[in-house]
Amino acid sequence: IYSNPIKLEEDPNKIIGIVALIEDVTEIRRLEKMRSDFVANVSHELKTPLTSISGFVETLKSGAIDDEDTKQRFLDIIDIETERLTRLIDDILTLSEIENIQARMVRQAISTSDVLSEIGEIMRPIAANKEIELLTQIEANLPIITGNGDWFKQMLINLVDNAIKYTQNGGKVYLNAYQKYSNIIITVKDTGIGIPKKDIPRLFERFYRVDKARTRKVGGTGLGLAIVKHIVLSLNGRIKVNSDVGKGTEFIVVIPVK
Ligand code: ADP
Repeated sequence: IYSNPIKLEEDPNKIIGIVALIEDVTEIRRLEKMRSDFVANVSHELKTPLTSISGFVETLKSGAIDDEDTKQRFLDIIDIETERLTRLIDDILTLSEIENIQARMVRQAISTSDVLSEIGEIMRPIAANKEIELLTQIEANLPIITGNGDWFKQMLINLVDNAIKYTQNGGKVYLNAYQKYSNIIITVKDTGIGIPKKDIPRLFERFYRVDKARTRKVGGTGLGLAIVKHIVLSLNGRIKVNSDVGKGTEFIVVIPVK
């Protein structure tokens, strides 16, 4: 933005300068683009199950299908897609809550050892459904941290849930936590399918999925890790991933303590 030329008062013919204001809009543009991409993605993600639901409902209503088995199969698909829609909406709401400044301001004392053990107990039966053994090694009396307690739980659930989802029946999942210097280190490790190197840099993006077809089968939304990343950042922490295709994956969360 340029001002009009600034003239010398005594001699208006003499221009003594011009004011130039240069604003860096690249960051603003980038954020705008992220937001509009997100809206476009959300619309697309919501439309897919809705199209499928309304298609099958129409077919059933038309009375064209006599066969009971086929009817049942269509109803099952409607059921699965409705569930998917619910999960998507839940995840989208969680993400937008995490971006909400007020919710970020919640500063509760979180008893890390207790919460970690509790998550182990909650997730163990879910792992057992797939004959996966969930093994925990959580140091007692880890330091208390401050932050949003619900989010801390959500972060752990998302990581352990992924470890279970992407591990074959009969595999193992490890949830470990210990203190190192002034950090709490939480690791979630599995003996699952692993993640190809090329996908790792994009893993925490919203709606990013390594293999869309496969994730649809296991019921993913592609938002779980975006939620995890935001929660880790709200705790001033860092997250890292190590993975070997066919061997397993390890997520490492480092949270500083005061
Ligand atoms: P989703 O809802 O699809 O699981 P996430 O954001 O939680 O979405 O994860 C993004 C993608 O990262 C997943 O689709 C999956 O391909 C991959 N992924 C996440 N965790 C693991 C894991 N423990 N093992 C293998 N792949 C994983």
